[in-house]
Amino acid sequence: MADISFGSGDVWLVGAGPGDPDLLTRKAERLLAMASIVFHDALVSQAILDLIPSYVMQVPVGKRAGRHSMAQGAINSLLVKSAQNGHRVVRLKGGDPAVFGRMTEEVDALHAKGIRVQVCPGITAASAAAASGVFSLTRRGSTRALTFITAQGCGNGQNDIEWSAIAGEQTLAIYMGRAAAPHIAEQLIVNGLKPSTPILIAVNVSSPHERLIHGRLDSLALLMAAVGDRDPALLLVGDVTHAHAETADLSSEWFDLPIDMASAPKVRVCA
Ligand code: SAH
Repeated sequence: MADISFGSGDVWLVGAGPGDPDLLTRKAERLLAMASIVFHDALVSQAILDLIPSYVMQVPVGKRAGRHSMAQGAINSLLVKSAQNGHRVVRLKGGDPAVFGRMTEEVDALHAKGIRVQVCPGITAASAAAASGVFSLTRRGSTRALTFITAQGCGNGQNDIEWSAIAGEQTLAIYMGRAAAPHIAEQLIVNGLKPSTPILIAVNVSSPHERLIHGRLDSLALLMAAVGDRDPALLLVGDVTHAHAETADLSSEWFDLPIDMASAPKVRVCA
């Protein structure tokens, strides 16, 4: 086992993975035991927080879409001050810190004060969702590209995504897509994706409350509306998500027909 360098005044940004403590890396677990203080996101599961030894201080700095959250600047200051006070600081983030994790802001703030920062990667939600659904995010010959997208703030008229550039033969992994779901479906269809393009809404991936909702792009808004708004949900769009029902586990739900309000009872659900 390689030595881990974690001195007083150092900061480690650590990926906690999607929730299942067995999907935490061994390095992350070692870092949690070496830390003197851990600042964690709301996305980090209780099962993972339970692995933090009781001698380590735990500070929630959670952010959840649309809810009270600590401003990024305040989090940066806390990290800087704790390191300057000689703590061994772990900043624990859901998934991989390098995927939509505000990592750059924190690294920049720490570097600006001359604080040493190291990063331990984690399993990102898209990888965990594909694993749960037993399909590959890429497919030899047909799906050669995978795009990670954050839908946060899109659909409000400013700074929208260049939908025409991504509506093609690739897998889209759309993070924070709940609020923008109707806009996402509309824009992808307007820009050339078939209404029947398979989608997967992966909810609470890798937790005991996991739900995998398979459907079609034209039903996205309705399917997303059925997801509890406290539950993290990742949207995958593309042919690769069209796994066979026989290989799916009990957390899978299938909506193979287009859903519209008038014909909603026709929906077939088989778990
Ligand atoms: N750094 C994280 C992503 C943070 S952005 C990662 O690499 O996974 C937060 C978004 O990630 C959520 O809104 C949701 O879209 C997705 N997400 C994170 N964990 C998830 C989980 N366990 N199940 C489903 N989606 C998840």
